[in-house]
Amino acid sequence: MMDLDGFKPINDIYGHAVGDEALMVFAERVSNITRADALLARVGGDEFAIIQPDIASLDDPTRLARRIVVAVSEPIQIAGAALKLGVGIGIAIAPDDGATRDELMRRADRALYRAKAEGASTIRFFEPQMDANMERRVAMEKGLRAALTAKAIVPHYQPLVSLDNNRITGFEALARWESAEFGQVAPDVFIPIAEECGLIGELGDQMLRHACLDASAWPKDIRVAVNLSAIQLRDDTLGLRILSILAETDLPPHRLELELTESVLVDNFSKAQRVIEQLRQAGVRIALDDFGTGYATIAQLRKLHLDRIKIDRSFVDLVCKDPESLVIVRAILGLASGFDLSTLAEGIEQADQLACLKEIGCVEGQGYLFGKAAPASEVLKLLKADSRASAA
Ligand code: C2E
Ligand code: MG
Ligand code: MG
Repeated sequence: MMDLDGFKPINDIYGHAVGDEALMVFAERVSNITRADALLARVGGDEFAIIQPDIASLDDPTRLARRIVVAVSEPIQIAGAALKLGVGIGIAIAPDDGATRDELMRRADRALYRAKAEGASTIRFFEPQMDANMERRVAMEKGLRAALTAKAIVPHYQPLVSLDNNRITGFEALARWESAEFGQVAPDVFIPIAEECGLIGELGDQMLRHACLDASAWPKDIRVAVNLSAIQLRDDTLGLRILSILAETDLPPHRLELELTESVLVDNFSKAQRVIEQLRQAGVRIALDDFGTGYATIAQLRKLHLDRIKIDRSFVDLVCKDPESLVIVRAILGLASGFDLSTLAEGIEQADQLACLKEIGCVEGQGYLFGKAAPASEVLKLLKADSRASAA
């Protein structure tokens, strides 16, 4: 089983005609490699399968898979661009991995799932352990559903700080799931599962409602930032739902900041633009999260009316050690000031990073240096300590 890496951005950026052509080039390259007795088929959008009978040893499929990876790595010239694709490959061998068509396909698919999880252009053979992993994944999905019913996924709050005077200006709500079965599960683990199995809308609503309710008890100058997944923006009713949650929790819209990632813009720019415009008109602030790690174009940044750019931790990490990171952060700050956007540096852990960022004009920051995400009950204490510190 094969699944292309990087196909979706090609479709989104260059359009479907170019996407179709890329698929044809891929299929042609692969069919030039496969033996005459092999069957090559397209089984989904960017998924393909090969049935190769009569293999002599495991070397056969390994060699075939490697040749496919190499052939696909050659950029595809279409529409004046050199498009880069990769391919993940999962392999199952009959009869050891399955004696029936269904079982063989399912297990090749598991191997592919693993290959995709490990990164671009990876080849994996099926291993029995993969069945156990899939069972865990299924159990986790079940646990997640139960947690949502029990409203057991709650926001913790990480301070956002003005670099001028080190005072707290707001908090970012970060989802926390403490599961009896799995222990503390990181959002990097459960958010993608929620996205895959259609639970992200419900999770997003719960987080937003909880965060707005908490924030309505904070001092009026303290904002709350809530993350939105790109999948949530596909829902046409999102804007209205957010506004009704604000009304229900009595939080003035200007105290809410929504954090979007660049993938939102690649996914469906005009839809994202509509929702963002609707929310901004209501007074909600919009920030672009993890900036510099995705595919947003400068033209998109100009068209969208954002309030803030959050500079990704990976650049902040090396800002005072690596001249190139410094160049990148300076460039982002320049862009932001030209577009009249506020800036916030993520992941500040060291005092020297803070000093560098202040010197080059970053406005706000967030990171372990100021504090990790803490339960809602800690927020008022943090604010009290903060005002005492500034009064002193
Ligand atoms: P994010 O929105 O970029 O959030 C910042 C992440 O960086 C948080 O991880 C935070 O704990 C971590 N962090 C903050 N300061 C530092 C630091 O100084 N050093 C290091 N190493 N890390 C720091 P967390 O809570 O694990 O969240 C990970 C990601 O999961 C978030 O990245 C966000 O994309 C997503 N996420 C979290 N909660 C939600 C949610 O309610 N909805 C959605 N859609 N996504 C969420
Ligand atoms: Mg965020
Ligand atoms: Mg971030």
